[in-house]
Amino acid sequence: MNKKNQNSKKNEMIITKENNKPKAVNAKNMVENVLEQFNSAADEINLHPNIRKILSITNNEIIVHFPVKMDNGEVEIFSGYRVQHNNALGPYKGGLRYHPTVDIDAARALAMWMTWKTSLAGLPYGGAKGGIQLNPSLYSQTELERITRRFTYALGDNIGPEYDIPAPDVNTNSQTMAWMADTYMGTKPQTQRAMNQHVVTGKPVGSGGLEGRDRATGYGVFSTIRLWANKNNYILKDKTFIVQGFGNVGYWAAHFLEKEGARMIAVQDAFGSIYNEKGIEVESLFQYSLSNNGSVINYSGAERIDNKNFFATNCDILIPAALGNQITEQNAKDINAKLIAEGANGPTNVEGEKILLERGISIIPDILCNSGGVIASYFEWLQNRNGELWQMEEVIKKLEKKLNESFEKVFNYSKNNDTDLRTAAYCIAIERIEKAYVQRGIFP
Ligand code: GLU
Repeated sequence: MNKKNQNSKKNEMIITKENNKPKAVNAKNMVENVLEQFNSAADEINLHPNIRKILSITNNEIIVHFPVKMDNGEVEIFSGYRVQHNNALGPYKGGLRYHPTVDIDAARALAMWMTWKTSLAGLPYGGAKGGIQLNPSLYSQTELERITRRFTYALGDNIGPEYDIPAPDVNTNSQTMAWMADTYMGTKPQTQRAMNQHVVTGKPVGSGGLEGRDRATGYGVFSTIRLWANKNNYILKDKTFIVQGFGNVGYWAAHFLEKEGARMIAVQDAFGSIYNEKGIEVESLFQYSLSNNGSVINYSGAERIDNKNFFATNCDILIPAALGNQITEQNAKDINAKLIAEGANGPTNVEGEKILLERGISIIPDILCNSGGVIASYFEWLQNRNGELWQMEEVIKKLEKKLNESFEKVFNYSKNNDTDLRTAAYCIAIERIEKAYVQRGIFP
């Protein structure tokens, strides 16, 4: 797991705090990208200009700089972000990521995607996102704990169980959420602590977490692929797939696809890419990555390939499950898949998507494809609020039902209005928010 100086030479990548400055590169484009997606759907549904104005900008943007004592006694200052885009449908909801690329623009774009995602899923939530600009592999567990707790403390009542509910995202997990919940609850009077447990979702089972929340996003990716396959008379058995990012989302999506009889033939992570035409065993690769600082590189059951050849791999299904802006006008023409299932948020930019659609490649858009995570978060929130404990079977059944409903809506919309799936998903999401604004009016 994350331990200081664990980036071994084996991985051919040495990251220091100095060269770890954010590559602000793609952040700006991500905002432009989400706004372009939004505006073209807004044009499609003839969205009221006032509502277009409201949704084009974020409601609140919180930036906190906070000091944390490192293991060696030195103090380091960190920058944390929380952007709350919109709460017309309910409390703000969305993950926190720990990554060098986290900055205000990235948080803005990701917060907007959460608004569309929760709306499309029919949840009583708005959208938010945030995180800390850091590379977690450079810090020990005890440092990460202090960073997380101090960040939670700095956010104060900018988050809250009925106001803004964070969850895991890139490089954060149930442990991160346990620290957050504990810290937040600790700031409340004794008698109110327990009722604040649902300030975050994605907690460990045993600390208010939901059975199955760990696999929910990946399961959702798989499930939407299966729904797409059913609609298109496409048999998943013996199909090949490739995965970018072998974290929580990529691993679980691959796990369920393999169970369905599909074959994983290439994987890319932050350290490089691997390939085996005959198939890479998902569980075996996952166990290997756990023992190899989270990296798939040098796995004995596959050969190393150049990163730039990864997207060009001849396959049936491509699952980007890492960061945003990965499929662009630069590489869209090289992609050799029939279907792209967006496990990540914003992996395909507008220009890249145009090329893919022209080439007849289908895309299950992020706000539908990876919505299993936030849907399960909603179940966890309900479980905590109602003092219940749900069983895995019940969770998966309810998740399946919700995903099915969303998929049907998107699929039918796209058929009836002759749009691609992303435009359909956006139109449905935006119309639901528009309705709420029309009903309530604008204060005062
Ligand atoms: N970070 C996840 C997402 O991007 C989950 C958010 C949540 O559960 O609130 O959808």
